[in-house]
Amino acid sequence: MAKKLFLIIGAPGSGKTTDASLIAKKRSDSIVHYSTGDMLRAEVSSGSELGQTIESYISRGALVPLEIIVDTIVSAIDNAPVNNVLIDGYPRSVEQMRALDELLNQKDDIELVSVIEVRVSEQVAKDRILGRASEAKEGEQRSDDSIEVFYNRMKIYTDPLSEIQKFYTDKNLLQVIDGERTLEVIVEDMDKFIHSKI
Ligand code: AMP
Repeated sequence: MAKKLFLIIGAPGSGKTTDASLIAKKRSDSIVHYSTGDMLRAEVSSGSELGQTIESYISRGALVPLEIIVDTIVSAIDNAPVNNVLIDGYPRSVEQMRALDELLNQKDDIELVSVIEVRVSEQVAKDRILGRASEAKEGEQRSDDSIEVFYNRMKIYTDPLSEIQKFYTDKNLLQVIDGERTLEVIVEDMDKFIHSKI
């Protein structure tokens, strides 16, 4: 059976990683979740040479190169222990979107079921990121949760967004979720949607 893939996109601070991990936790027998940012940060923590390269991008809020991120998500999907896979944080560029599309055309063992956009205003995103930065414990701060890097990450998110929205709307795959409600309501909504598709 082909693996069912759900992509979750959203601005930094949209809550996409928290939402997806809560859903996967609730349905761990059927759904697994990977965050591109977490997978990349895990590679950085390993201290590998690849990790050092990755950190040089993350700390600036820049996107890591295409081959690195494509390899990261493909191996996550291939190694997923269950059939339904949520990946948050991909695609983040038109180039990434096209690369995945080509890949999916070649692979019949992965079916893209939906692209879920967790939508929040820039102000809400900023308040959440700066809140996260000020609440982080010593040694646990993210290298990219600062106001300067926030604007860079926001711009990188926003620039390709309309093209990404159009591409997946045309394929009838885009699902927008209002990310400004309480965590509980957002998770319930998203969970219901995903469950209806698996
Ligand atoms: P996040 O945890 O989703 O905010 O991601 C943190 C950082 O990881 C981003 O600012 C990028 O530097 C890198 N990153 C995450 N996802 C991607 C991706 N799809 N493509 C390139 N870089 C990424």
